[in-house]
Formats: sequence, structure tokens, C-alpha cells
Amino acid sequence: MGVREDLASLCEAFAEIHDLHAASGLLSWDQETYMPAKGVAGRAPALATLAGLSHEKLCAPRLGELIARLGAPSAAQDLSLEEQALVREARRDHERASKVPAAIVREVAEASSQALVAWQKARAASRFQDFAPHLARLVTLKRRTAEALGYAETPYDALLDEFEPGLTTSFLERLFASLRAELTPFVQEVLAAPKIDAGPVRRRYEPSRQLAFATAVARAMGFDFEAGRLDRAAHPFCSGIHQGDVRLTWRSSDDDLRPALYGVIHEAGHGLYEQGLPAAWARTPLGEACSYGIHESQSRLWENLVGRSRAFWSHFLPRLKEFFPGVAADLDVETMYRAVNEVTPSFIRTEADELTYNLHVVLRFELERDLFAGRLALEDLPSAWNDGMEALLGIRPGNDAEGLLQDIHWSMGSFGYFPSYTLGNLYAAQLFDAALSAIPDLEARLARGDFVPLREWLGAKVHARGRLLLARDLIRDVTEKEPGMGAFLTHARRKFGEIYGV
Ligand code: ZN
Repeated sequence: MGVREDLASLCEAFAEIHDLHAASGLLSWDQETYMPAKGVAGRAPALATLAGLSHEKLCAPRLGELIARLGAPSAAQDLSLEEQALVREARRDHERASKVPAAIVREVAEASSQALVAWQKARAASRFQDFAPHLARLVTLKRRTAEALGYAETPYDALLDEFEPGLTTSFLERLFASLRAELTPFVQEVLAAPKIDAGPVRRRYEPSRQLAFATAVARAMGFDFEAGRLDRAAHPFCSGIHQGDVRLTWRSSDDDLRPALYGVIHEAGHGLYEQGLPAAWARTPLGEACSYGIHESQSRLWENLVGRSRAFWSHFLPRLKEFFPGVAADLDVETMYRAVNEVTPSFIRTEADELTYNLHVVLRFELERDLFAGRLALEDLPSAWNDGMEALLGIRPGNDAEGLLQDIHWSMGSFGYFPSYTLGNLYAAQLFDAALSAIPDLEARLARGDFVPLREWLGAKVHARGRLLLARDLIRDVTEKEPGMGAFLTHARRKFGEIYGV
């Protein structure tokens, strides 16, 4: 067999695996949007079957042989750089999957489908004890997964690596320690300064008009509604079935504009990434997003560096007044800019301001790390959560819904995901600095509502490259700097220093 034939066979095999993932992605999206409550009895085993089938295909010995032949030094000369990257990423997926027994993969899929429904109910009733047995089962399954995958220092490393290849617990401990040391005194200064009036965003913005406004913003960002849609769900998320079918969800508050607006901007940031993945590599590992940290950098960049800027409101405040003539008529850009940048300790991570957001991630990281190291028992989790919130943010949740039941991730078994949010914040600041240098009139363009240059720049530098580079190499390549927290801290100090006068 020649190299070209092997490569064609590799792509064919991955196309089938991708199709199975697309099917389960759509079933999962449906489960969170339109599936009737009793549907879970059929949905959980269906998802388990699909997970089993794609795992089986991904572990197939024939796929291993193809990868071995294509990865041989003699084959490299016949492969382009992209094709070599494709083989590298195919090997990663194949080797990771091959280490985990099929039975665990199926059981995780089934358990998380059931856990999702249990979490939705437990959150509505604010009762952690109703969700705890599901969480216990998922932690056990994920610990067995980590043992099967192997790790250098601690089982949690194996879980982190799924979302950000090469990420380790010890690296995060150092990162979070310095981030906390840099951020905490600054947050304290900001909190001691005179309060910002968030009244302008806490008005009675009618939810269906909120949806219409947020949709207009997503459209202006360049999200293609012929290649995607937006539906209501308990938790905002983005599900990329294919670059021509990217599904966003939203939720709203009756008396606060922020959850729907910034939720949609965030998810549309993910959506632009999914719609901009390289079409030529669709249905191969190269046609997927680089890492979850890079994915979150796209959503957080649009949400914070664009959506919470003066430039954004220069353009969108007049639009807001058209959508809400009776509610927003008296507002000016400066008032709005300050209102959406109110810094205040809050319970819900997705609604946290830019400064305190990373502290929510620190809490989740420390709890997950201790859970998987066997230092924290599940029954102690609610009190550990509440103590942690108090230590980090000085507030104590009054119930489980605004405490440890707030996020969907644990019900999906996605332990190790949360650090992606902080990496995303750090990458986003660094990428936005690079965009400002590359597009000299960027701020003026954004203030005119012209998002095309930024979207095209991100498209060319990040989206269209799929998994061509590893996350750290991608950031280094695009920004010509090592990935770090410098850009984020500079941005945060400058922006909030000016707003709060500290
Ligand atoms: Zn996100």
C-alpha cells in the first residue's frame, strides 16, 4: 500500500467516526433543548451505543497499522505539513481511545445522559443529594478512565489532558497561585472603590426582545444563521455538529440584560470558530478545534474584549434603544459601559465579571483536584464548595442551585474542563493584543459595528487552522509571545483601574 492510499483510508475511517460523533452530538443537543422528559429512557442507551461504536472504530487495529505506516520516517517526505499534523492528531485520538476499555466508554455515555436529567431536576429543586448518586457514579467511572489512560503524577492529569493536551495539575497549581496572588489584592482595591451602578442593565428587558437583540448582535459578529441556530436551554452552550450546522443555546433573566446578551455573544464566539474550521479537512481530526482552551479564548474574546468594550456600546446602544424604546431611552454609552463592567462577587460563574471570573475557576479546579486525589469525599463537597466561595469571593451560597449545582459540566462527566476557561481568558487577551497590532484601526471599526476585520483575522489565524498546531504553539505563532498571563493582567488593570479609579 502506498502513502496516498493509506492516507485516503485514514481519512475514510475518521469520516465514519466523525459521523457517529455528529449523530451523538445532535442527540445530546436535543436532550438539552426539546426532548420530552421521559425520552431519557431511550436516549441514554442510544448515546451509549453510539459512543461504543465510535470508540470501537477509533481503536480498530487496522487504524493503528495505518497510523504506524503513515507516521514512519520514510512516509514523511510524501506528506505535506498538514498531512503530517493529521497523522499526529489521528495517533493521539487512536492511542487515547485504545487505552480505555469499551465498557467504560459506554457506561460513561449512559451515566452522563441520565445524570444530565437528574442534574436539571436537582438544580430546579436545589437539592444536591438528588444529584449526588449520579455524580458518585461518574467520578468512579472517570477515575477508572484516568487509571486506564495513565498519568505522570496524579489521576487528574489524565483528565486535564483530554481538554488541553499536555496540561498538568502541577502546572495549573503554579499558574493559579500566581494569578491569585496578582489578582486578589487588585480585586480587593476595586471592591473597596465606590460602587458602579448596574441599574441600567437590571431593568425589565422583555425576554423575547432580548432574544431578538442578542440575535442581531450574533448576526453582526458574523454568525451564519443558515449554518446554525439558537434555541432556549437550561444552560448556554454551543454544539458543533458540522461547520454547516452549529447550534447555540441561550437563557434569559426577566430583570437583567446580561445573561442572555453575554451568553449569546459567548456562544456565538464558539460558533464562529466551529463555522470557520477548515472545510478541506472536515470529518478528519485536523478539521476539529485545537483545544478547549483555544475554544474558550474565542468565546471570551468576543464576550469581554469586544462585548464589554466602549466601542461595542458606541455602536449597539442606539440599536438597544430601537429594541427597547421604553426601557433604554435615557442611557448613554459611558453609563452602559460601566454598568456591564460592574465588578462584584457573585455566585454564578457564567455571569461573573472579568475580574472575579477566574476565582470561580480556581475553586472548581481545587475541588476537582482534591476529589480525584481522594482528599475530598463526595458528601463533603457542598460544604467545601461553600467554604471555598467564602474564602475566594467572600460570599456564601444560600442554596445548592447557586452553589455547586450551577454548571452542567459535572453531569456530563467533564471533570478537568474548567481550567479551559481560565486558559481561554489568558489566550483571549494575548490574541486580542495581537489583533490590535495587526489591524491598526480595529477599535474604530468595532465602534462602527464593523466586525469583519476581527472575524477574518481570527478566522485565518485560529479557526481555519483546526488542529494543525498544538495550543501553545498556536498562541506562540499568532502572538509571537509565549502563552502567559501578562496580557490579561495588563488589560484587567488598565480597564478596571480606569473604571474604578484605582
Ligand atoms: Zn464557553
